[in-house]
Amino acid sequence: MAFITLNKQHFYHNLNQIALKTGSVEKIAVVLKDNAYGHGIQEMAALSRTYGIKHAVVKNYEEAQKIKALFDTVLVLGGEWKADDKCSFALNSIDQAARVPQEVRVELKVDTGMHRNGIAFDELDEALKLIKQRRLRLAGVMTHYRSADVLSSELFWQQKRFESVKEKVKEAGFSDVRFHSHNSATLFRNGSFDEDLVRAGIGIYGYNELPDIYGKIELKPVLSLYANKVASRTLEAGERVGYGGDFEAPQKMTVSTYDLGYGDGWCRGDSADPYVTSEDLPILGRISMDFISLASDKEKVCIMDDAQKAARHFGTISYEMTTALSASIPRMIV
Ligand SMILES: *Cc1c(COP(=O)(O)O)cnc(C)c1O
Repeated sequence: MAFITLNKQHFYHNLNQIALKTGSVEKIAVVLKDNAYGHGIQEMAALSRTYGIKHAVVKNYEEAQKIKALFDTVLVLGGEWKADDKCSFALNSIDQAARVPQEVRVELKVDTGMHRNGIAFDELDEALKLIKQRRLRLAGVMTHYRSADVLSSELFWQQKRFESVKEKVKEAGFSDVRFHSHNSATLFRNGSFDEDLVRAGIGIYGYNELPDIYGKIELKPVLSLYANKVASRTLEAGERVGYGGDFEAPQKMTVSTYDLGYGDGWCRGDSADPYVTSEDLPILGRISMDFISLASDKEKVCIMDDAQKAARHFGTISYEMTTALSASIPRMIV
């Protein structure tokens, strides 16, 4: 069976790099949504805890329940609300602020320009009033930037807006509220960090999607993807491999089938422009649901040890390469 290894040393190296920017491990919230970007939520939560991370961010309460025992706080970005002393829930609209049960801990999300989630900037006074009236348990105020990884000055006006959000929240008399707006790219790009928390996602897994001009923070990919050999055969020159016979053996050669395919979340791509594995083996012909063919007879091969490199080949981003990987592939920490 195909399997994934998670490199503990690389993960800790990335957390060290992030802690250097935040000035403290206590200020790091690891973003473990979507099965920890496909890495395995339980494994990444356990490693985070051992390192000393106190805060996590997940997609829904179902994910939160798997890992909350390991953290002091868990921010839940969506889905159903639950009264839970460890979990807080992103509040995305005035309507939600009016409906959320009073016992639920909430973090108000303010839309400072991304226009995806959060209350509008000019609804802030109304939202704060409602939160006060209803005596909601406001644990945090947050925003998310739309262009942190884009070469432009857009980030700056959004950050300025969030500064005035902070002022208003404080003026309204709220205390014990944590403020956070930074994802990985914002943290790596900004010179200084003075908020309560960074919501660090892609960076902890070892990827930096910022243009080079912002300077490279050295990160190390945590995930490697392997496949095991299923069967080997010898092909004569002119014999073809796989659906459609897209690959034709140029000479007599050994070809093996390995147990990874698009059913495992691997990208099918285009057989005319084959992906080359991290061991320099081009995938031969079309990718099947559960199998690929390689000119090798090794028992196991490393298919990918750098999702950013693979993503460039497939015309996507590191996030999508790893998040797509099926949760049923076994993960092991090395
Ligand atoms: C996914 C997510 C993050 C993490 O972003 P990265 O770019 O992976 O660091 C932070 N905040 C919110 C609200 C998110 O949805």
